[in-house]
Amino acid sequence: MSLPSSVDVAIIGAGAAGLGAAHALKDSGLSFIVLEARDRVGGRGHTIMASPEVTFDVGCGWLHSADQNSFVKIAGQLGFEINKTLPPWRERAWGKAFPPEERGDFIRSLDEFFQRVHDAAKSGRDSAANLYLEPGNRWNPMIDAISSYINGCETDQVSILDFDAYEDTNLNWRLRRGYGALMAAYGVSLPLAFNCAVKLIDHSGKRLRIETSQGTLTANKTIITVPTNLIAEGAIRFHPALPDKVDAAAHLPLGLADKVMLALDEPEALPAEGNLRGATMRTEMGTFHLRPFGQPCIEGFFGGRYAQALEDEGDGAIAAHSIDEIVAFLGSDFRRKLKPLSESRWAHDPFARGSYSHALPGHTGKRAVLAAPVDNRLFFAGEATSPNFFSTAHGARDSGERAAREVLSTIGTSQG
Ligand SMILES: Cc1cc2nc3c(=O)[nH]c(=O)nc-3n(C[C@H](O)[C@H](O)[C@H](O)COP(=O)(O)OP(=O)(O)OC[C@H]3O[C@@H](n4cnc5c(N)ncnc54)[C@H](O)[C@@H]3O)c2cc1C
Repeated sequence: MSLPSSVDVAIIGAGAAGLGAAHALKDSGLSFIVLEARDRVGGRGHTIMASPEVTFDVGCGWLHSADQNSFVKIAGQLGFEINKTLPPWRERAWGKAFPPEERGDFIRSLDEFFQRVHDAAKSGRDSAANLYLEPGNRWNPMIDAISSYINGCETDQVSILDFDAYEDTNLNWRLRRGYGALMAAYGVSLPLAFNCAVKLIDHSGKRLRIETSQGTLTANKTIITVPTNLIAEGAIRFHPALPDKVDAAAHLPLGLADKVMLALDEPEALPAEGNLRGATMRTEMGTFHLRPFGQPCIEGFFGGRYAQALEDEGDGAIAAHSIDEIVAFLGSDFRRKLKPLSESRWAHDPFARGSYSHALPGHTGKRAVLAAPVDNRLFFAGEATSPNFFSTAHGARDSGERAAREVLSTIGTSQG
């Protein structure tokens, strides 16, 4: 759709939050458009066919807290099959790389760490989560690796109050056709302008002036859903400046999680839906999902500083390191069986600059600061604004709906 010169509401970003906001405005009678910098919807939700046989969710893949996840109902409405096989993250390990007794010991240490963080958070005083690692515990480096998967960063960067505020019902489902594919279907029929990067929101006048790579439009209200790193770095600017928003975004940075998809020859040698991980005693380690949905492939997951270092090494580094790690666990025969198909580089993605948000220690309150409207004209959504489902796709979607409700609640008081 070409850019209109004027709308009631401009939604910035067509990720889960922007799509949630747009659906909530559909029957409002207001004119609106979703301005999206990419040439597709979904943002950090993106499904590709990595090969003719392998569907790959390059971003979000799991319907976390599935019993409270608003995308579950949407998947049903749009005819997307839900796979309820539970994830192989904890007790189920394959091969000899992580013997059951070792794994049991590790899980115990991990759970005790989570419990200490939870107990400490009850005091209401914030601190960095690494203070609750048991001194000398041999599993500490690997607990940090788990933190890098969950938070996108190691425990020294995690606020215990923020970590404790996250709600997880421990029910994780998936979509056979992909989470990103669901978002693409959810975006059909919405008014969208692609390749339309917003540069400046001028809120000095009676109407908002929004400068984009496709020209300028005016709006009464805007819902801003872009990732926090882009606000913090000034990729989107405000006039007059909004220092509180920039500060909040800077203290809710996106951590990093990256995925790799490897084709697997002779797949029957490995179990479907297995987990492969070693007792590496290192933070710099991947975790591998064997044959997701039974496909002939292995999906690897990396987080935090290690993921950043691999991205910085350049294209192909994540796949190369994954193959080395898997060969070290399963034997040199596997080198010829594995072939790189695709890998993410979310930190280098100009419209994401990372994977999901976490609050830095001492800054858990910044989620509410970021979420608060300005002058009943600028509204903020996106996963980082969710009080309890931050870092997730459904938290993002619900936040978009919340921002749209805020817009609607102001109509009649300030609508021109
Ligand atoms: C590797 C990885 C794994 C993940 N796994 C899961 C998971 O299993 N389950 C889960 O629930 N979540 C997961 N997540 C997190 C989830 O993907 C995100 O929390 C969610 O998709 C964020 O949605 P959003 O709408 O807030 O932001 P985004 O999806 O980032 O949407 C923002 C949109 O704004 C656009 N944009 C940026 N700048 C501009 C601009 N200047 N002008 C216009 N448009 C702009 C972007 O292109 C993007 O489309 C994962 C993320 C990653 C990266």
